Amino acid sequence: MGKRYGFKQDGDKFVLSINNHEEIMSVLAEFCQDLGILCGEVSGLGAVNTATLRFLNPETKRYVDKTFDEQMEISSLGGNISAKDGKVYLHVHVNLGRSDYSVIGGHLLCCTINGACELIVTRFHCQVDRRLDE
Ligand code: FE
Repeated sequence: MGKRYGFKQDGDKFVLSINNHEEIMSVLAEFCQDLGILCGEVSGLGAVNTATLRFLNPETKRYVDKTFDEQMEISSLGGNISAKDGKVYLHVHVNLGRSDYSVIGGHLLCCTINGACELIVTRFHCQVDRRLDE
């Protein structure tokens, strides 16, 4: 099976192009795992036709997840890359522009490209490990 992405490297910066119709978060995790990037940051642009966002209610400590099935522009995407139990852990937030030019946003769980997706990944030479804080 062919790669679900292509990339170019300039030192610790990577230009990552994810194939159309792929799910961004799983491909980004695969890319980081493939290249051994366990600490870094990510930013990007693109277009998607479905996205699941998460909102954390601090009162109840409950996550509320919602899926939006419509064509949207990634007007901004930003996040960090760290490690949890030796595996890549992504924490990504996104703003999505709708056809009426309004914007929704939140913690990005998954979204599927319909158009293109171009991410910039910066690799850091340190290790940040996550563990649960009750
Ligand atoms: Fe978050």
